[in-house]
Amino acid sequence: MSHPTQVRIISPKADPDSLPVPGDIYRGGDNIWYDCCPKCGIVAALSNHTVVEEDDGTITVTPSIVCQCDRKGAKCDAHYFITKSVITYV
Ligand SMILES: [Zn+2]
Repeated sequence: MSHPTQVRIISPKADPDSLPVPGDIYRGGDNIWYDCCPKCGIVAALSNHTVVEEDDGTITVTPSIVCQCDRKGAKCDAHYFITKSVITYV
């Protein structure tokens, strides 16, 4: 199975019916950025990351993101960088 290589910035505030799919990123009503893991689809807060909106409209997140989801004992070990909206898996 292949995973997204590009994040998509969505706006739940503008479109409350839109559900995040793997690879989506958005700023929540609480002003915290969330990302939908491109591998397992779990939504996680990026409160301990720095999220930068680039001048060209893309997103850069530092440091890299490690998915700590543990669904039914099946760990998602996704580890990836988001640089100018491009997802690079480690
Ligand atoms: Zn995951």
